[in-house]
Amino acid sequence: MLKTYKYRLYPTKKQIAKLEETLETCRLVYNSALSDRRDYYKETGKSLSRIAQQENIKNYKKDRPFLQEIHSQVLQNVLFRVERAFDNFFRRAKEKKGKPGYPRFKGKDRYDSFTYPQQGGFQITQQGLKLSKIGTIKMKLHRPIPITIKTCTIKREIDKWYVTFVVEHSEITQDVPNNPIGIDMGIKAFAVLSNGEIIENPKHLQKSEKQLVKQQRQVSRKKKGSANRRKARISLAKQHRRIRNQRSDFHHKLSRLLANLYNPIIVESLNIKGMVKNHHLAKSISDAGWGQFFSYLTCKAEEAGSQVEKVAPHYTSINCSNCGNQVPKTLSDRTHKCPFCNIVLDRDHNAAINILNKSTVGTTGSYAWGDSTSTLPMRALQAESLNQEAPSEFPIQEG
Ligand SMILES: [Zn+2]
Repeated sequence: MLKTYKYRLYPTKKQIAKLEETLETCRLVYNSALSDRRDYYKETGKSLSRIAQQENIKNYKKDRPFLQEIHSQVLQNVLFRVERAFDNFFRRAKEKKGKPGYPRFKGKDRYDSFTYPQQGGFQITQQGLKLSKIGTIKMKLHRPIPITIKTCTIKREIDKWYVTFVVEHSEITQDVPNNPIGIDMGIKAFAVLSNGEIIENPKHLQKSEKQLVKQQRQVSRKKKGSANRRKARISLAKQHRRIRNQRSDFHHKLSRLLANLYNPIIVESLNIKGMVKNHHLAKSISDAGWGQFFSYLTCKAEEAGSQVEKVAPHYTSINCSNCGNQVPKTLSDRTHKCPFCNIVLDRDHNAAINILNKSTVGTTGSYAWGDSTSTLPMRALQAESLNQEAPSEFPIQEG
């Protein structure tokens, strides 16, 4: 399993100039490698391989000294990126789903990272992050990192710089006892658990989202092409970044907590793309970032030794979790009132129990509603850590 660790970098002005220069050179190499491939195909009807392009770059270097300013593996990685762009293009063309989208040239603002693909080009020292051809940049190592780093990527996010390290993880840290839970992803709340716990979207995130709407309006009010509009756009981009960070932090904390407490964790296998297309639900779903949350949850569960099971979403909100009869509802019906067994439950709570009961792993029979495990940790998380400002830098983990 690969895991990513992200840290904030604090380059000096001189280093920033060097970093910008590196990005720009990589961008030029990317664009020229792309046009080489295109021309070669036009002329010969064959694809130009990455290996051939690597040979080309060695020859270019002789009379283009600015290429020698860049670490050779960083340049090679650019060619890997071009190759990946073409591979993806061919795959999409083969699948014949919509337009495959030919790889594009990268504009100035569209190229914002470069990668050292193996140890040697970079090194973590007492002083910070030492990068070949660039120097040692101050780094805030807010949490320890394993020694065996695979790759190191430097990334510009508007006016801040970050490094992400990809690390291989194999160890499973603990055994989680059999303690199943169903999760229904909510529309009003972030999620509702089968034990009745409601997980709200954190307050600071809601606040930031309100702020975002305001800032969006401000941009559209400013004159096109004006300095003020540009300023407003930058502050809007920063607000987007703040929300991304806050949301990601929330997803990390919540998924870690769930993975440590419950096993297995049962969720609906939702077709998120299909649902976002549905305008009625679009905003709330994309805002809740379910896709990101699920991928964090799967990764954290794997680390913790617990299991995530995806079950078919059919009838989870219609069926009565107590007697199994169907109780049709519209989207605005927030309560499940069963005319057959008279049970009254929050709509999402009922769905979460149904989701739990669909589980086929590690469970015996069905779970009654209110079959509650400790509700304290979740509340504590809600009250304390989740409502604090998220840090501007945080670790990202990918499964
Ligand atoms: Zn019923």
